[in-house]
Amino acid sequence: MSDLTELTAIELADRIAAGDASAEQAARAYLDAIDAREPTVQAYNEVWADRAIEQAKAIDARRAAGQGIGPLGGVPVAVKDNICTTYGRTTCSSKILANFRAPYQATAVDKLEAAGAVVLGKTNLDEFAMGSSTENSGTKPTRNPWDTDRVPGGSSGGSAAAVAARLCAAALGSDTGGSIRQPAAFCGVVGLKPTYGRVSRYGLVAYGSSLDQIGPLARDVADAALLTGVISGHDGRDSTSVPRDVPDMLAELDKPLENLRIGLPREFYSDALDAEINLAIHAAAEAYKDAGAEIVEVSLPHSRIDIDEAGKLSSYAAACYYIVAMAEASSNLARYDSVHFGHRTAERCDDIIELYSRSRAEGFGEEVKRRIMLGTYTLSAGYYDAYYNKALKVRRLIKNDFDAAFERCDVLLCPATPTTAFKLGEKTDDPLTMYLADIYTVSVNLSGLPGLSIPAGLSAAGLPIAMQLIGPVFSEPTLLAAGRMYEKASATSCLAPPMVKG
Ligand code: GLN
Repeated sequence: MSDLTELTAIELADRIAAGDASAEQAARAYLDAIDAREPTVQAYNEVWADRAIEQAKAIDARRAAGQGIGPLGGVPVAVKDNICTTYGRTTCSSKILANFRAPYQATAVDKLEAAGAVVLGKTNLDEFAMGSSTENSGTKPTRNPWDTDRVPGGSSGGSAAAVAARLCAAALGSDTGGSIRQPAAFCGVVGLKPTYGRVSRYGLVAYGSSLDQIGPLARDVADAALLTGVISGHDGRDSTSVPRDVPDMLAELDKPLENLRIGLPREFYSDALDAEINLAIHAAAEAYKDAGAEIVEVSLPHSRIDIDEAGKLSSYAAACYYIVAMAEASSNLARYDSVHFGHRTAERCDDIIELYSRSRAEGFGEEVKRRIMLGTYTLSAGYYDAYYNKALKVRRLIKNDFDAAFERCDVLLCPATPTTAFKLGEKTDDPLTMYLADIYTVSVNLSGLPGLSIPAGLSAAGLPIAMQLIGPVFSEPTLLAAGRMYEKASATSCLAPPMVKG
């Protein structure tokens, strides 16, 4: 039955609905794959084998009783470990939450389960979603299934690696500055960061509240569309979720996109971009042209990437993002005080301040501490205007550029990452270099837009290459349909890494 892991979520759901496979067989096939490959990939923080079988059996019983089993009936999925679940633990891959059991469940997980999904477990991430390689995890580094000496990207590296290595059919991730799209790109899977407000953040452990969104990682665009439709919608428990009807993302997927105008942001095609990725994206633009789309050049001046004589990169967008994200993080992470939440020091403390500081010093990892300190600094009296307020103004300029670009095109076609997956340890000594892994993704979060990362072939070294499509707010149906259009023309979806084939 291991071939069940080769099916897309939609194919698997169809088979189960038709009675050609059972949900239990599907769950067991994935648990077998986890037994075989998880020791190498290390994508999961927790695998819920017994619970998954139980959930699967319940789906099979519903079907046998003639009841509906939902659009994801019996499909095994994984959930990033910063999304609260009432079963198991929610650790954010942080020592400070090592034993945390959430008293409530994220709306996105409720919706997945209501649609019939079977949850296999919780996936690894950079601690509190802060990072681009999953090496900041307080538990272990996850490995890229395409080359286990390389990172899977981050922070949803566990979810991306699990989808790529066929350790789940699809997964949830979260994206604050690229954490769904960049690992999707590194692992050769599809990742969608929905419009801010499209998916409820209730139960998503907050990192940068004005930037965070939950979204799917999937084998192909159709699966991403199905999951996005399932988890979207207004939620009274998240005041930033938008009361707006959710369109049927799948119904519109194969609708021909007449007169589609694709914008190429000129600033994104510079020496900062790996040559093979550049070629692949221009080939994608040609494929769109052949399919009848119009290609226009547009400009996003405030998202441009500068390179100095020494080859060092800099970007307003990355600078702005890291100020905003760290400021919000420093405030959001204040709640881990060892009294309400989290690890408490075993040392004797003379007062509450010492209790806080010892517990937090023991519980948080290096990168999280760096961000709390930088964020606190940029919010402090005297620096607030120079850093935080300035960053908010730059954020507006970045957003204005997108608004102007979308007057001339329907979607933007651009890179998701400047390079393919890098080696484990390559950037861990240099946080600034690590931050630049996000130069093509952060502007989308700063502007609240949806962004879709899709595989665009393999490099000469056999590593996944990706492209990113960006659309105006709430344009997910067009974005997904544009992604599907490329997928059909290119045959680059559902590529399996050698470890799966061999
Ligand atoms: N790598 C970025 C950061 O470290 C993005 C993380 C994310 O999207 N959660 O902040």
